[in-house]
Amino acid sequence: MTGSPEVAVVGGGIVGLSTAYALREQGVSVRLYETGLPGHGQSAGESRIFRHAHDDPRLVAFARESRGVWAEWAERFGVELVSSDGAVAIGESALARLRVLDRVGGVAARAIGPDELAERMPLLAGYAGPAMLDEAGGAIRTRAAIEALTDQLGDAVVTGEVVSIEPRGSDGVEVRSVTDRAVYSKVIVCAGRETARLARSVGLSLPVRLAAHVRLTFDVKGAAPARVACLQDGSGEFGEVSVYATPLPGNSRYAVGLSETVGVRDDGTFIDPAAIRSLDERARAYVARALPGLDPEPREFVHCWVTDLPWSEDGVAVWEAGRILFVAGHNLFKQAPALGRALARAATGDGLAAELAPEAQLGRPRD
Ligand SMILES: Cc1cc2nc3c(=O)[nH]c(=O)nc-3n(C[C@H](O)[C@H](O)[C@H](O)COP(=O)(O)OP(=O)(O)OC[C@H]3O[C@@H](n4cnc5c(N)ncnc54)[C@H](O)[C@@H]3O)c2cc1C
Repeated sequence: MTGSPEVAVVGGGIVGLSTAYALREQGVSVRLYETGLPGHGQSAGESRIFRHAHDDPRLVAFARESRGVWAEWAERFGVELVSSDGAVAIGESALARLRVLDRVGGVAARAIGPDELAERMPLLAGYAGPAMLDEAGGAIRTRAAIEALTDQLGDAVVTGEVVSIEPRGSDGVEVRSVTDRAVYSKVIVCAGRETARLARSVGLSLPVRLAAHVRLTFDVKGAAPARVACLQDGSGEFGEVSVYATPLPGNSRYAVGLSETVGVRDDGTFIDPAAIRSLDERARAYVARALPGLDPEPREFVHCWVTDLPWSEDGVAVWEAGRILFVAGHNLFKQAPALGRALARAATGDGLAAELAPEAQLGRPRD
């Protein structure tokens, strides 16, 4: 083991990069393996929503912690990582989540009326139903985050696919990548859609459901608004019951997606190839109805794998197999800094936070 860092992280998406950086913060030596370019798996694209609102109060508290780490890192790196324009949610479901936020406390969120909604979200058609504003929510500057963390990690990030992970008793865990072989005291697997496969190689079966997702980007008509919030629309007012939307840096483009995903088989082939086109068309139709501030002709498409857990589309959990940790879940961009720190603590002897154990089902809606 002489010469190898203490911990290996497999996967250079936002979760792996945050975990490796959190290990560095604790003074632990780390190597991160990434097959391709950091941030080009599920973490691809230029924006994500940061929101505190979740159905599970424990996940609200986790998001609040994560927001604090985003702010800390933004200050340390000298770049904006989450916009300051807030996140709005509309529909009855928004008010239900606002009640969860109030119960947890410590999140600046409140119900807003049509005028404030129009001011916060000037691209939206007139809407007079229930709405809430999460003031510390906003658009995550995904590229800035991936680049800053990759820069910080420097040559700890190595290009190469990990082909096997093998527990070697008290000696540690052997990792074989396309170009090397090394033994580490701990390994943390944050490999996105590949995590479940790597877990199977040590006898663990993760209940991860693989699906495909599409998000479209539209140009803002006319001048970019100085301020524009992220949007979650659960109202049904504009013909869809679950839509999310987020501005790209500069506010001249806005990304819109239906929360629905497309079913795929275990090998990634689409069960119904037409289903993804139908999601495109519905997103375009939604934009034409709900977002008159956008040109309804899509400019870019982001296609991504989604890996979610059976108890919630926001669910997240960590599985332990001796010295190896496997993380899985969905909608993890916002949670990555807190998740990274929790994984780093788990790998360095503090144990895994109870809420991240699979049986805790973090994210499951609660009464
Ligand atoms: C269109 C879209 C919109 C989303 N919106 C939001 C949102 O608004 N808010 C939010 O919080 N989340 C959102 N999400 C979810 C969020 O983006 C993901 O949960 C998050 O990016 C997952 O990061 P990750 O690091 O776990 O996985 P990934 O980014 O997939 O990273 C895994 C990495 O592991 C690498 N890898 C795999 N196998 C190996 C191997 N054997 N060896 C070495 N490297 C390997 C891959 O190349 C990849 O780079 C959205 C996702 C999509 C697709």
